[in-house]
Amino acid sequence: MSALYGTYARSDLAFERGEGMRLYDQNGREFLDFHSGIAVNALGHGDPHLVGALKAAADKVWHTSNVFTIPEQERLGQRLVDATFADRVFFTNSGAEALECAIKTARHHFFSKGEPDRYEVIAFTGSFHGRTLGTIAAGGNPSYLEGFGPPMPGFKHTAPGDLDAVRALVGPQTCAILIEPVQGEGGVTAMSTEFLQGLRQICDEHGLLLILDEVQCGFGRTGRFFAFEWAGITPDIVAVAKAIGGGFPLGACLATEEAAASMVPGTHGSTYGGNPLGCAMGNAVLDRIQGPGFMDHVAQMGQRLAWHLQQLAQRYPDYVLELRGKGLLAGIKIAPPVRDFVARLRDDHQLLAIGAGDNVLRLLPPLIVTEADIEDAMNRIAAAFDAIEAETATTASAS
Ligand SMILES: *Cc1c(COP(=O)(O)O)cnc(C)c1O
Repeated sequence: MSALYGTYARSDLAFERGEGMRLYDQNGREFLDFHSGIAVNALGHGDPHLVGALKAAADKVWHTSNVFTIPEQERLGQRLVDATFADRVFFTNSGAEALECAIKTARHHFFSKGEPDRYEVIAFTGSFHGRTLGTIAAGGNPSYLEGFGPPMPGFKHTAPGDLDAVRALVGPQTCAILIEPVQGEGGVTAMSTEFLQGLRQICDEHGLLLILDEVQCGFGRTGRFFAFEWAGITPDIVAVAKAIGGGFPLGACLATEEAAASMVPGTHGSTYGGNPLGCAMGNAVLDRIQGPGFMDHVAQMGQRLAWHLQQLAQRYPDYVLELRGKGLLAGIKIAPPVRDFVARLRDDHQLLAIGAGDNVLRLLPPLIVTEADIEDAMNRIAAAFDAIEAETATTASAS
């Protein structure tokens, strides 16, 4: 029996080696990775530039403290500011901490303006923002809240897609609206341009801050650096993590000057957040993502994946119920139970994918995926459908 907390229904599979789109277990069995450690390994495995950057960083100072200047952090912060809407950045170790910083920033913004009662955040059902006490309250998923005492107050939820329902929740205590432009964990639901633009408008009408959780859908995954860019809106605060460190634990909260101005010494902090090792990796990931043609490739592969998924849906109408998502954050609502199907893909077809809410199969390949890899993955999924079909036929004829 494992010494670890039983918080995961773990597979026995352990990987020893990775190369690009592929992972290898102890027996040398090869797996095609459409999981990316849940959208983390954006550059796949063993990217030479990232490996080089980590080795170089290992020869320098690993950790100091945020009470000193960390040149790699200053550089990464400036590069994120130059590339995005943001004026200020706070670095964290994880996505949940990036969200905690985002929520604290929004609340403190109004506190500093003499409106301390304005702390309520409107969030959405089906969302996922992390596993801290604050972020389970923000996510509002009853199964994640159960057993952990009273949820942190200050969050209201409604279903995404209905602007009137959002308007009905706005009150004198509302400080912000929080949403994932593409819900990942909840079922790979992409928000419409009209809905995101409508949320921006509601924020403008009522002086609220718009907080976006781009922990999963950001950093290139949808074919734009941020998923919100598709809607042509500008947020006030954005939480990122996952792909930002390419596998090294790193997250960030990005904000406008206006939103972050009150976050002065004493208001927030993190021991590890933005340490030299993490920021060396963040800079290396950004070198690759900002490299010539990289984002064009991601956008193109997102389109190819969508096309191939449509072919799959046409070929297997009984198994593929709906296609969802955006770019390389793709979802297939399937008929067979998704947990079993993910295990079947892994064990019988050596394809790594992941489930999401609403019985959706989630495909999150590294952003370096090629069309040949996509075809390979489609063939494996088709083979898994065929195997289920054959088993069902056998069972039917036996009975
Ligand atoms: C994974 C995820 C988080 C939480 O990130 P952690 O690093 O696990 O804390 C938050 N929001 C979204 C959208 C995520 O996908």
